[in-house]
Amino acid sequence: MITEVRVKGILNPVRQPDDWFGLKYNMNLYRGCQHHCIYCDSRSACYQLDNFDREVVVKVNAVEVLADHLPRKRVVGTIGTGSMNDPYMPVEKRYNLTGRALQVIANNHFPVHVLTKSDLVLRDIDTLEEISRVFATVSFTITAGDDDLGRKVEPGAPAVSRRFAAMRKLAERGISTGVLLMPVLPFIEDTRENITRIVELAADNGAGYILPAFGMTLRDRQRYYYYRQLDRQFPGTKEKYIRQFGANYFAQARQAGELHAYLTDLCEDAGISLEVPKFIPQEAVEEELQIRMF
Ligand code: SF4
Repeated sequence: MITEVRVKGILNPVRQPDDWFGLKYNMNLYRGCQHHCIYCDSRSACYQLDNFDREVVVKVNAVEVLADHLPRKRVVGTIGTGSMNDPYMPVEKRYNLTGRALQVIANNHFPVHVLTKSDLVLRDIDTLEEISRVFATVSFTITAGDDDLGRKVEPGAPAVSRRFAAMRKLAERGISTGVLLMPVLPFIEDTRENITRIVELAADNGAGYILPAFGMTLRDRQRYYYYRQLDRQFPGTKEKYIRQFGANYFAQARQAGELHAYLTDLCEDAGISLEVPKFIPQEAVEEELQIRMF
């Protein structure tokens, strides 16, 4: 079900220092998500998205609001393209909110961080190239090294191979891109084989970084949904979770420390960073240069 709404604001300031992405603002053009990842935390009761898998709310006037508000922002900082939804889920083909919002961002010379699981991002490659002159990076969430496993855990998202192909095209155009390797699902994705495959594909397709998280969160109705999907797709795995994690909020991947060290070695060999690059304001660059000169 698609519901259209009108909004008064669209840019939310990120108040906590954001170490992962360096975001200053976040922008949710949609509510709800059509990618239906079995692990998605947005199903948790605290977010109050009761129809998360059944309804997408489209903020139809969001681009006009952004065009009005962005020129008045005094602080230039990185805009994130959303949380708890994918800015390039299928409905974006029809509404083009993300594409048009990126054009507004380009016109106003703001930096952007795009987080997606979709190769639809290539539709906006020219705009991203333009924003890159200030700063742009595109992160693809990839938790599975092959299409079969990817389809099981992210059934509504484009195949993993399509995400890597999109990554390559972005990298070929000089646009920063990389992988968010998160969550690494315990008993399903926490193997050296899976990690090796993802790093190899990332290296082959121009990734500049891989940011990992070895484990996942589990709570209330998200846990309930996830366990039902485990029974359907990975029989016997739910019982392992119950034994291992009980009612814990965080479910850590098996041998998380070893896997992290293993990933670090692989990335070092492949010349891939373990950090997402961040926008550095021009004033900070100039200040640093002056300090070095004197
Ligand atoms: S793409 Fe992100 S927001 Fe959408 S279902 Fe998957 S994890 Fe949730």
